[in-house]
Parts: sequence; C-alpha cells; structure tokens
Amino acid sequence: MTETPTGSTNATQDHFVASGTRAYGGVLPGRHILSVDVEDYFQVEAFADLVSRESWDQWPTRVEQNTMRLLDLFDEADTKATFFVLGWVAAKVPSLVREITRRGHELACHSYWHRCIYGLTPEEFRRDTRLAKTVLEQASGVAIRGYRAPSWSITVRSLWALDILGEEGFEYDSSIYPIHHDIYGLPGARRVPYAHRLNGNRRLQEFPPATVRLMGLTLPAAGGGYLRLLPYAYTAWAIRRMEAEEGQQVVVYLHPWEIDPEQPRIAGRVRSRFRHYTNLHSMEHKVRKLLQLRRFQSFQQMLASAAYSRAGADGRRDQQETNSTTAAVAAHARVSQ
Ligand SMILES: [Zn+2]
Repeated sequence: MTETPTGSTNATQDHFVASGTRAYGGVLPGRHILSVDVEDYFQVEAFADLVSRESWDQWPTRVEQNTMRLLDLFDEADTKATFFVLGWVAAKVPSLVREITRRGHELACHSYWHRCIYGLTPEEFRRDTRLAKTVLEQASGVAIRGYRAPSWSITVRSLWALDILGEEGFEYDSSIYPIHHDIYGLPGARRVPYAHRLNGNRRLQEFPPATVRLMGLTLPAAGGGYLRLLPYAYTAWAIRRMEAEEGQQVVVYLHPWEIDPEQPRIAGRVRSRFRHYTNLHSMEHKVRKLLQLRRFQSFQQMLASAAYSRAGADGRRDQQETNSTTAAVAAHARVSQ
C-alpha cells in the first residue's frame, strides 16, 4: 500500500503508538463510556447501495421511537451517554435532539449524510461536517464538541479529515477503529485514548472503540454489532480484560435500530442482512445487562472530570516518550491496509 493521505495533515506522523501503551497513565476515572450513533435503519452502510439518500424522506422513520426507548433505558440505569446524531435526523426531528440534551446527555456529530469519509474529497467532508454541526447546534442550542465518522471511516485513506475536524472546532473524535475489517479500521493504531497533534498547533483527542488482544490479534469488543451478534459473555469478558490489562475506559457504542426487531426488512445481500438483522430481539436485554455490569458516562462527563485532567497530563508525558516509535507504527498501519 503506497497511497498516502491527501490534504495538509501532519496527523499521520506522530500519533500512533504500539498497542497497550497507557496513554493516560492507567488512571480509570470510574466509569466507562456509552455512546449511541443515532441514525435510522435505512441509513446504514450495509444497505447504502439499495437505499439512495434522495429516497430517505420516503422511508417510514423509526429513529425517534427507538431513540426514546434508549433514553428510557438509560434513565432506568441512571446513566448518561453521548449521542452522535446524524445531521439529517436533527433536521427531520429537531425535537429529538432537544430531548436528548434535556435529559442530560451529550449531543455530538455523526455527519449529515452518513457517507464514508474515504469516499469524499476534503472539501466535501468539510461541507458535510459544517452542515451537520450547524443543524445540531441550531436545533439544540448547545455547542458540539465531538465527532464520530459514519462506519468508522477515518482510515489510512482519510486521516486528512482529522485536521478538518480540528479546524471546524471539534475537540475530540471517536472514529478510528484499530482493527482489520472489510469496510473500516486502521490496524496498528492505538487502542487507548490519545491526542492527535494537528496543523496550526491544534489538538484533537481520540477515543478508540474498545478492542481486546487475543493470540496476537486485535479483536473488536465495543458493542454495536459485536454485542448483538456474539454472546453477551464475550463483551463482559472483553471489558474485564481491558480494565485489567489497560486500566482504561472502555468505549461502547450502539444504534437505536439495533433494539428494534419490528423494523421493515430491506432485501440486501446475505452478509448485510446477517449483520443488520441478527439478534435484534435480544439486544435490548443485552444492553440492560451491560448497564448493570458497569457504570457508564458520556465523553463530556469524562472530559470534565478532575481525574481525567490529571491522567491527561500523565498521558502527554507518555506521548512525548513514545513519539519516537509512532512514525514506525503509522507506517506499519499503512502497509497493513
Ligand atoms: Zn452510523
């Protein structure tokens, strides 16, 4: 793989370190991170070739009722989360984003059109991101600080997006999945929170979704399809293992459509149907168990915590120590793609 990212970023050079590095000094401020990518069942990448974005308006929407069920579930567990909401959803149902913030959760950005970033030009990405952020902020009246890419699509082909996120005012990102996967992932990237150093002396915090190391492999373990498709015991084991080995927060994610077995079926490819429809009926129960297993919080709550600030200082020292190895690991990540 000889392709290098386009754009002006220097983010490729200095922000990946070997798996297992304790970027924040091993301090665990008490709670893991719970996040929700708010999109409707017909807006997912698995069916993007069958459902045009122009047709989204014609599909029966279920995102509001499903997100409300998640909000009730989180209330029952006295848990706050970060909701990365699609700009299109915020424009369609602005009352939903107001309800999310009214209940004390953090609102963040999941793009406007749910297009994979590596398929966009930097200017297209900037326009999409700016539109989504504006719509979310106007609907909610709160400033948006966090970003999660559609389908984890910040990969070795789209690292230029990090500079644009910094320029557009984002403070953190949670889009780089350090695994091998057919449509996303950046193998060899760091598995624990770290900071990108961007052009213009900007910093952007990165919070990778949870993974676990097993027999030399990095396996995904962050909820979503992995919580839904695999036995619950796998996720519980992975969380305990990450706590013991990394001493870090586990970043968990899910989607409102994943707790909705009644959603209309789309006749996609066998693999897409398997990934999207398997175990929808049992997901809500698994989420309840997960919320009982550990305490969770939003990114905003974690960033505001005193323990995190102290740990961040340790992490910056760690990062300085590890910078000499980062370029090599970034190169490894590129050739592994
Ligand atoms: Zn998504």
